[in-house]
Amino acid sequence: MKELSHITQQIKERLESYKSTLVARETGVITRIGDGVIFADGLGSAAYGELLYSGDCYALVLNLERDKAGAIMLNGGQNVKAGDRIYATGKVINIGVGKSLLGRIVDCLGQPLDNKGDIAAEDYRFLEYPAPAIMDRAAVTKPLPTGIKAIDAMLPIGKGQRELIIGDRQTGKTSIAVDAILNQKGKDVYCVYVAIGQKASDVSRLAAMLRDKGAMEYTVIVAATASDSAAKQYLAPYAGCAVGEHFMYSGKDVLIVYDDLTKHAIAYRELSLLLGRPSGREAYPGDIFYTHSRLLERAAMLSDRLGGGSMTALPIIETQLGDISSYVPTNVISITDGQIYLERQLFNSGVRPAINVGLSVSRVGGSAQCKAMRQVGGRLRLELAHYRELQIFSQFLSDLDYTTRKLLTKGELLTEGLKQPAGEPLDTPLEVLYIFIITNDLVSDCQPCNLDKTVEKIIDRVRNSCPDIIDELAKTGELSDDNTAKLLSLMGTRG
Ligand code: ATP
Ligand code: MG
Repeated sequence: MKELSHITQQIKERLESYKSTLVARETGVITRIGDGVIFADGLGSAAYGELLYSGDCYALVLNLERDKAGAIMLNGGQNVKAGDRIYATGKVINIGVGKSLLGRIVDCLGQPLDNKGDIAAEDYRFLEYPAPAIMDRAAVTKPLPTGIKAIDAMLPIGKGQRELIIGDRQTGKTSIAVDAILNQKGKDVYCVYVAIGQKASDVSRLAAMLRDKGAMEYTVIVAATASDSAAKQYLAPYAGCAVGEHFMYSGKDVLIVYDDLTKHAIAYRELSLLLGRPSGREAYPGDIFYTHSRLLERAAMLSDRLGGGSMTALPIIETQLGDISSYVPTNVISITDGQIYLERQLFNSGVRPAINVGLSVSRVGGSAQCKAMRQVGGRLRLELAHYRELQIFSQFLSDLDYTTRKLLTKGELLTEGLKQPAGEPLDTPLEVLYIFIITNDLVSDCQPCNLDKTVEKIIDRVRNSCPDIIDELAKTGELSDDNTAKLLSLMGTRG
C-alpha cells in the first residue's frame, strides 16, 4: 500500500512538471511553385501577411481563398517542389531597426549587403504598420531645408511632409533627393534611402558618394536592386519605412527617399499577375493606390504626446515622355502634399535642377518656411511663372516693347540664378542672401553669364564686412530692416 502511494506521488509530480513542447502549426501542401510564387492547399486558417516556410524557403501570404493560399517567395526555394509540405508560422514579417543600421546597406529583411558584418538590431518592427491617426498628428510647421535654392524658396518642404519628385528618366530626380540628404548633415535628422529596382552599381556608387561626403553617418540604405526578386522590390519601401518609423517614434526627425515608386508599382503588378489577381488599368491590380497610400501615410509630424518626431517622405516617380496623367503618377500626386516636376526640355537646355515652376507645388510647406525666405522668395515664383508664359509668346513676336523685354531679361537672370550644381547644397542663410541678390533690381543689368561671379562677390563682401547678417539669419531666420539696408548699401558698392 505504501509502495502504491509512493508511485502515485511520483506520477503526480511527473505530471505536474511535464511541459508540452508540442506546437500546433497548420500544414499545407504545395500545389504549384515557380516564378517566385507558391500556391498551397490546406492552409485554411493562414492569415494575410503571415509567413510560411518549407525547407529553406520563406514565403509571405498575399492571396487567401477557402483552404488555399497564394504566397510570394522571399528567399531560397531551389529545393522546394510541388507536393512538399508547407507550414504556417503564425508570424508576420519584421525587420531589425535602430542606430546600428546607420551607415549600412541592408535588404528588405534587414540582412547586410555591404560585407561589414552582422548588425545587432536594437529592436524589431513590423514591415506593415498602421499610419498615425488624425489625433496623433501635429501640423507641419518646421522647415526641412533641402539646400536647393529653387526648392527652398519656391517649393518649401516641412518636417512630416510628403513631397513627390517626378520627371522623365535622367532629369535629376535622384540628385535632388540626395542633395536633400547631404544637407541634413549636423542637423540631427536621420535619413533612409530606399533603392527599388535600380542597378546595383548605381546603388554602390551612391553609397560611396554619401560616405565620401560624411553623410552615411546618419543614413541607412535599404536596397532591392534590379537583380532582386519582385517580392523583395515590393517589400523594400515598407522595410525602409519601418526603419524610419523607429527613429520617428523615438522623437527624432527622419527624411526618407523612395527611389522610385514606379519600379515598386511594376514589381507589385508582376506579383499580382503571377498570383492570378484580376488586372485593371494599365494591367495594375485594383489595390495599387492602397499600396502607395498606406506607405506614404506613415510619414507624419507626430504630436507632442507621441514625442514630436517626424518622418518626411520624398517619393520619386518616373514618367514616360513627361506624361504626368498616367495611372501611377496621378495616384501618387493625389496622395502627396505637392510635387516637384522636372522637365526634360529644361534639363537639356542647361537649367539644372530642371524644375518646372508652373507644374510644381508644395501644399503645406509654406507655413514651415523661415520668415526671411518667405520675404525674399515671395515674388520669385510669380515672376518666374510670368516669365515662362511670356517666353512662349515672345517666340512668335518679332519686335517687343520695352516692358516685355525687361521682364524677359529679368526672367532669364532669375532662371540663371536658380541654377545649382548637384551635390552642393547651400545653408539657408546663404540661400536667402542669394535669392535677395538675384531678385534685386541692382543686379538687373548684369549679364546672365556673369551673375554667379557677381553674386559670389557680393556674398564675400557680406562675409567680410557684415558677418553678423549671416549669423542673425542663421539664428532668427529673419532679415531685419537694418540688415536689409546694410545689404543694399553693400550691393551698391562697386569693386
Ligand atoms: P534615372 O531616371 O536614371 O534615375 P534621375 O532622374 O534620377 O535618373 P540623376 O541620376 O539624378 O537623374 O541625374 C542624371 C544626370 O544629371 C547625372 O549625371 C547628374 O550628375 C546630372 N545632374 C543632375 N542634377 C544636376 C544638376 N543640378 N547640375 C548638373 N548636373 C546634374
Ligand atoms: Mg534616379
